[in-house]
Amino acid sequence: MSAAAPGRLRHPPPTAAPDQLTLRGFFGVFRYSRRAIELVWGTNRALSVSLACLTLIAGVLPASVAYVGSLIVDAVVASIRAGGVETSRVVGLVILEGILVASIAATQRGLSLSQSLLRVQLGQRVNEMILEKALTLELRHFEDSEFYDKLTRARREASSRPLSLVTRTFGLAQNGIQLVSYAALLARFSPWAVAVLLLAGLPAFIAEAKFSGDAFRLFRWRSPETRMQTYLETVLAREDHAKEVKLYGLGPRLLERYRDIFRTLYHADRALTVRREAWGFGLGLVATLTLYAAYAWIAVSTVMRAITLGQMTMYLALFRQGQSAVSAMLSAVSGMYEDNLYLSTLYEYLETEVPPPGGTVMRGPHPQDGVRFENVSFTYPGAQSPALENVTLQLKPGTSLALVGENGSGKTTLIKLLTRLYSPTSGRILLDGEDLASFEQGALRERIGVIFQDFTRYQMRVGENVGAGDERYFEHEGRWREAAAKGRASAFIETLPRGYHTQLGKWFQDGRELSGGQWQKIALSRAFMRTRADVLVLDEPTAAMDAQAEAEVFEYFRQLARERITILISHRFSTVRMADQIVVLEGGRTKECGSHEELMRIDGAYARLFTLQARGYR
Ligand code: ADP
Repeated sequence: MSAAAPGRLRHPPPTAAPDQLTLRGFFGVFRYSRRAIELVWGTNRALSVSLACLTLIAGVLPASVAYVGSLIVDAVVASIRAGGVETSRVVGLVILEGILVASIAATQRGLSLSQSLLRVQLGQRVNEMILEKALTLELRHFEDSEFYDKLTRARREASSRPLSLVTRTFGLAQNGIQLVSYAALLARFSPWAVAVLLLAGLPAFIAEAKFSGDAFRLFRWRSPETRMQTYLETVLAREDHAKEVKLYGLGPRLLERYRDIFRTLYHADRALTVRREAWGFGLGLVATLTLYAAYAWIAVSTVMRAITLGQMTMYLALFRQGQSAVSAMLSAVSGMYEDNLYLSTLYEYLETEVPPPGGTVMRGPHPQDGVRFENVSFTYPGAQSPALENVTLQLKPGTSLALVGENGSGKTTLIKLLTRLYSPTSGRILLDGEDLASFEQGALRERIGVIFQDFTRYQMRVGENVGAGDERYFEHEGRWREAAAKGRASAFIETLPRGYHTQLGKWFQDGRELSGGQWQKIALSRAFMRTRADVLVLDEPTAAMDAQAEAEVFEYFRQLARERITILISHRFSTVRMADQIVVLEGGRTKECGSHEELMRIDGAYARLFTLQARGYR
């Protein structure tokens, strides 16, 4: 999120410079229709076919009703002239019209049934596509605010937009068929009437298409503000933030920010809505006037006996219905414009280029080489200065490393590179003598186990929170117990009401909350699930434990890790000193490197910090 003050807009509103409606823009309306139809077809063929057939039927029925209506009136008039004895034809025609009207109702029901069923299936399908894509994305994508916007926008309307586009495309076809059938009947009265019918709707269409384009641009342009609003909602109304917000009394201030953003957004919204409605009213008036002019024309023609009474009723009905078909088509088209713009976001997201994950190498040529950083530098995308610069170090199997440094000195970044969440900007990282980049993803993942300081607290069962350390044994109770015993979590887990099956977190019924230290024990146990990982990384997961417990845990790790590499990030020198190798980072560079004794001997930054902390304990 940018640092712009909420409530203040960072770009001129798009309404300030309205785009011209181009021909390309107009055909752009149909750009994604094909893909949307493919999507629907792939989701459920039977329903797609029924949707198409019913659309066709719904297209031709109304004109036939109008036609039968005219036959009825003429039959009534003829029958009156004949002295009112011949009624069977009239009754027959009325019955026919009744059947046709009932069929219209049946097709409408069928249409809405198919649509409802498709909507649910399609929403699920699109959401699955979005989530499947999310699995292939890299960490940098999630940390990129622009990309994150795309993802949020794609998800927000995933369940409604694709079907809406299809419904509208079909609706357009249905109204088109209706219009053609009306026009065919109306042309018998006058081809000019057909022209009037079509032209009267044109201005309204142009206005609609333009305003929906504006609306979408508005929607896109302000999405960072909307995201801030959503975020504020979360902070104000979710349990994990409630504690601090209450105690610090932040509520009213944050709520005011929330209101500010709303006011700015509302302003732009209101301007657009007002203009849209004003134009809509004006152009709608043109259409109404045309209708009544045509009404007069038809009525006068009847009085002059150019057409029969039955024909008059039919033409009037045709005109009226034709006009509503035209306006239905117009609003379908303008809605399609919005749907298309939505789908463009969706496909932009789905088509995000993701480089294929890593290479194919399963193991390196020199297992005794361990982990080696060669002149590694890394700059976060969009950052001005490097987070790591020229880091060189080696870790042989069976040794341990402690990373020390102030906050922001690059410790976590180093781990992110080692786990290939990011790739070095320059330099190489080798595992067993092979470039990390060449490893097959699964093979690499199996080798490295990491517990980050902000490890995930899954709102699932306790056991699953432990099992998360090794996906294959996610639900394996035996493994949970073994790992929890090693991570020193079994004692407190057994006191929980449902043991390993206790639900954690407040989102679900009967969810229990754990203390910070208890959560860390869960996280440690998670690390112990990775029995096959030979590089274990602990990024301050023990900070909430007391110093004694942390030292014990680390010692335990070291003993277990005879052939392993253990990397520890900690601010506690009592633990750090136990590591075979200590690296002091400062501003992304290696400041000092060596064992505790060596670093104490050179009497540099490490020695100073160590003494400082040791004094605190005396
Ligand atoms: P440490 O773990 O030592 O506290 P980090 O490795 O997290 O430090 O951060 C190193 C530097 O990189 C800091 O200046 C931090 O602001 C920056 N940084 C960390 N994460 C990101 C990120 N996702 N995007 C951009 N910069 C980042």
